[in-house]
Amino acid sequence: MVGTNPFESAMAQLSKAASFIGKSDPKVNEKLEILKQPQRIINVTIPVRMDNGKIRIFQGYRVQFNNARGPYKGGIRYHHNVSLDEVKALSFWMAMKCAVADLPLGGGKGGIIVDPKTLSVKELERLSRGYARAIADNIGPDKDVPAPDVNTTGQIMGWMIDELIKLQPKKLSKKEEMKLRSTITGKLIKDGGSEGREEATGLGGLFVLQAMLSKMKLTGKKLTVAVQGFGNVGYNIAKFLHENGFTVVAVSDSKGGIYVPEGLSPVLTLECKKKNGTLVGCYCFGSVCDMKKGKQITNEALLELPVDILVPAALESAITKDNAPKIKAKVILEMANGPTTPEADTILYKRGIPVIPDILSNSGGVSVSAFEWEQNLKGQHWSKKAVNAKLKAKMEKAASDIWTTSKNIKTDLRTSAFVVALGRILKAMK
Ligand code: NAD
Repeated sequence: MVGTNPFESAMAQLSKAASFIGKSDPKVNEKLEILKQPQRIINVTIPVRMDNGKIRIFQGYRVQFNNARGPYKGGIRYHHNVSLDEVKALSFWMAMKCAVADLPLGGGKGGIIVDPKTLSVKELERLSRGYARAIADNIGPDKDVPAPDVNTTGQIMGWMIDELIKLQPKKLSKKEEMKLRSTITGKLIKDGGSEGREEATGLGGLFVLQAMLSKMKLTGKKLTVAVQGFGNVGYNIAKFLHENGFTVVAVSDSKGGIYVPEGLSPVLTLECKKKNGTLVGCYCFGSVCDMKKGKQITNEALLELPVDILVPAALESAITKDNAPKIKAKVILEMANGPTTPEADTILYKRGIPVIPDILSNSGGVSVSAFEWEQNLKGQHWSKKAVNAKLKAKMEKAASDIWTTSKNIKTDLRTSAFVVALGRILKAMK
């Protein structure tokens, strides 16, 4: 997943979609030009006292891409490969994604260059609190609303919100504190989080896939699936697909993958991975994990398995011009952000393999984040049933809008999703 600049990929996607938009109007051209750069880039250094008593300085970013439709919205990533171009790309995709899901929000993203696995829990807490302090003036319920992303969790969001509360010059009333809590979503329930947020990206992906398969007339038979990535998103989509009659034959993490041709149990596989510290040997089928049921495979091999549905759910640029010709899946459901490069997109389109794009497939996460923001602002707490029902309706509407647009303008689903999003953003831009 190296060698491709995600911001260049994002801009190539923008210019392709722009070619479908009426550009005879000079105002539209100006607005499209504005959308080629973020509105604000915040560059922070975060000094952290390490457990050995020494100070280490970390580099962090918050990119606020566009707020024409509402406050900036987007997660915070902790990864050793975080770069400004990656955060810019992710913030751009957030602006598009919020518009696809028709949320009253813009796009932003944050990141810290760090391998969190090398930090103790106390160091991780000090880093997270330091980042919250560094960006405190630039975020807020009406300004910018961060959330979790790769390697960040509800617990980390809790530390950040606690730090923001501590920064307040006076004690807040209950109502004021709840409003302040809406600054960050993806919190644990005890910190003001929403029911269903943890698994929302995966569940939203299931709803989008079911809606799209029914449009593609690919329902009715037991479909096989391979999932790259076994974190929040990869695990949850695997679990929901398994529970809904799909056969998940392979999953992977950064160390490699496993292939269980009869179909694995995601819940048992996760338990086994937690116990053994690795996916290898976790060939869990039914209620047992059995070495004879599966085998170890590489991440590269997983992408090329002969499955019906391929789900990249790890990082950017997993599917490139090099492996796109070898992909055997009938449909790709992008659960990661930016997993397919524009060159790979062209190859897959020519090969007749539909790619259900990230800004649609994984928009369930930000949708429930928006519900959390709304609940905090109104001082409410909705039931899981209510949250999931709203999520289902939102995902089905978004999938239907994009399918219809793709038929109307006769192009791929990604370009159609961008055309839908751009239409809404351009309308909101002054
Ligand atoms: P996570 O940190 O929980 O999990 C990431 C997973 O990817 C881990 O299993 C990790 O081992 C695996 N991974 C990392 N590098 C890999 C590699 N080179 N090959 C294969 N696997 C690799 O993160 P997450 O929240 O599940 O996010 C995954 C993707 O989904 C990211 O692209 C993220 O931006 C996107 N996303 C997340 C959310 C959310 O709500 N968490 C919402 C929308 C999109």
